[in-house]
Amino acid sequence: MNNRVALITGAGRRGGIGAAIALTLAQRGAHIVISDICATQTELLAVNNPAWEELQNVAREIETCGGRALALRADVTDADSVQAMVERVRAEFGRLDILVNNAGIAISPGPVVFMPDEAWRKTLDVNATGTFLCCKYALPLMLDGERGGRVINIASIASERPKPNMAAYAASKAAVVALTRSLAQEVAMFNITVNALLPGDVETALKQWGVQLEADAKGLTYDEVYVGQIARIPLGRFAQPQDVAHMVAWLASDNANFITGQAFAVTGGREWT
Ligand code: NAD
Repeated sequence: MNNRVALITGAGRRGGIGAAIALTLAQRGAHIVISDICATQTELLAVNNPAWEELQNVAREIETCGGRALALRADVTDADSVQAMVERVRAEFGRLDILVNNAGIAISPGPVVFMPDEAWRKTLDVNATGTFLCCKYALPLMLDGERGGRVINIASIASERPKPNMAAYAASKAAVVALTRSLAQEVAMFNITVNALLPGDVETALKQWGVQLEADAKGLTYDEVYVGQIARIPLGRFAQPQDVAHMVAWLASDNANFITGQAFAVTGGREWT
């Protein structure tokens, strides 16, 4: 991937999937642009987004791999913000080869009848519309190069195996998979492939929050829920962010030239119940 330029959204949290993807692509020689909405210092306690400083720390870690790293604050739900992000990539690197749509949220779990309208809209906005906007505004830069390219969307196994109380999240990720399959056909003639990954349980802050939520709802301890969930995974552990990152690296590599419009489960074999 020497000299290829990769843009990864939602990569501001150390230990998150986005940061792992960025580091893995950097280790394979790509130049990296990472972006995240980033909480301001005053917002930090109120919202669950990493600080700008954390995004910059991820960028510094990437640079130790030898390539260039650029950190940008961008909100994927805001078309102006996404366009500004892409223009910075154009100005700094003049090309884009790999787009990884990783930014995502899972908020306000609960039954549909109690779900605040705003939670539904926000979830669809970040996960589905955010992916759409990044594709819409980044693809022209990828097309400019006439070198082909890769779009990799981080969806979720929830898109195909939705659990109760997560309707907004599941619907938003199903939209990402449908977008992936449709867009793949639109841009195949330009040698751009578009694929989705469907992670299951990945050991990140988001997952820890999910385990705690289930523990609270069922009156169990965190460890009881954790062990119970792992028991349902044939490979006997949660995924680590690197497990997802290695799949991204493969899809971004020349070995995956002929793969497009697909959605790959990264679940350790778990069949959802
Ligand atoms: P994470 O919360 O660490 O990462 C998500 C990032 O997206 C955060 O840094 C957050 O600040 C950013 N973000 C949120 N809203 C944004 C916006 N409007 N604009 C830009 N960035 C925004 O969680 P993670 O576990 O690393 O998840 C990464 C992706 O993987 C998400 O799309 C998530 O849905 C998906 N996923 C995670 C799991 C899991 O078990 N952890 C499973 C399936 C899918």
